[in-house]
Amino acid sequence: MNEFSLIQKYFEKLTPDRDDVELGVGDDCALLIPPSNHAVAVSIDTLVEGIHFFKGVEPEALGHKSLAVGLSDLAAMGAKPAWFTLALTLPEVDENWIKGFSKGLAALANEHDIQLVGGDTTEGPLTISIQVHGFVDQAKAMRRSNAKLGDMIYVSGYLGDAGAALQQQLQQLNDDELNSEDIRYLYQRLERPTPRVIMGQELLGLASSAIDISDGLLVDLEHVLDKSGVGARLNLDNLPLSKTLKKINHKVAQALALHSGDDYELCFIVPPQHYAEIEKRFKGQVTRIGMITDDDGLYYIDDDDNLIELTGIGYEHFAR
Ligand SMILES: [Mg+2]
Repeated sequence: MNEFSLIQKYFEKLTPDRDDVELGVGDDCALLIPPSNHAVAVSIDTLVEGIHFFKGVEPEALGHKSLAVGLSDLAAMGAKPAWFTLALTLPEVDENWIKGFSKGLAALANEHDIQLVGGDTTEGPLTISIQVHGFVDQAKAMRRSNAKLGDMIYVSGYLGDAGAALQQQLQQLNDDELNSEDIRYLYQRLERPTPRVIMGQELLGLASSAIDISDGLLVDLEHVLDKSGVGARLNLDNLPLSKTLKKINHKVAQALALHSGDDYELCFIVPPQHYAEIEKRFKGQVTRIGMITDDDGLYYIDDDDNLIELTGIGYEHFAR
């Protein structure tokens, strides 16, 4: 047995045993039994060292994040997680690294009852690809194309924290007002994001459209607007900021909330008949940040009541 088959062995029993897995890791293919009345939602993400994460990041956190980004895509569709496959490219076989990585991965997999059903390992620059599979009622799945004029725009949790951690790491954040607990909180948000899996499923039938915020609120929301053929107006005063982000320069905090990625919160669109239910059911967990319009693009209203276009305005410009 070579080192790489040893790694495969290592991953074999890490995740829950599901009844819908006829055959899991260890054959040419896995054999999976999807439920008859649902669609299978599928998404793949690749994380490359030096591009998506810093060299030397804690392996346990990396294991968590590698699966979290896929779970977040399932959440944005309203899908219930079921299975995933893992392709791991490693520069060397470092057993401590494998141990940490698999621990982070397994903890999140168990939390969401998602089973590892296949994988591949190769030698090369550190790269992690995970494909996730989940189940969703295809009639209710929250597609990007469903936003309509008059609908409200909501986000879960807080925005900009992960971006602030990244700026801090790059020494581009004025963090004079932040204590060590604040810094720890920001890094936790960057390195161990919480995919909104349960909320995604609970939004089915209430939200018409959703996306997870991986690249930044504006960029991601624009995908929804493009697919739906609508515009939007945001109320920037309503952007949800954590108490840590409220300590830094307000313009910078707002710019991070609008532009920075990696928060893995949900941005979702709610038609008028469901506002009240959303406000009641997700009180304290979600914030209304704007509405869908027939404008061509994304706008906000400034302090002097001018309508300002956000589309195309970069972080640097806005933070000034
Ligand atoms: Mg996504």
